[in-house]
Amino acid sequence: MHENADTAADRDNGDILHQRVLTLFCEALEVNQSQPMDVLEHLATALGKVYREVADSHLPPRNCVCGWEPAEYSDVHSLQFALARAALSRDASSLALSPVIGHA
Ligand SMILES: [Zn+2]
Repeated sequence: MHENADTAADRDNGDILHQRVLTLFCEALEVNQSQPMDVLEHLATALGKVYREVADSHLPPRNCVCGWEPAEYSDVHSLQFALARAALSRDASSLALSPVIGHA
């Protein structure tokens, strides 16, 4: 992860994204009457598609002006590591999660 990952602003942004993704997860679980892992796989696929779209916008001929240069394999490895670290962490969540999450 990038060097400013421990700043309070980054933690706040992470908490906001966590809350939004959790809301999407709960909505998809309820609307589709799906199993939790099916919804989680759809979310992971959606994140992969976002990566592809953002990376494509940084490659020729589109070349975003921010200067980021996608490195697909190392970027995807970083994303996989972030997912595993968060998923396997036993740290208490920063959100007040309902005990019924994952049970439609
Ligand atoms: Zn950019």
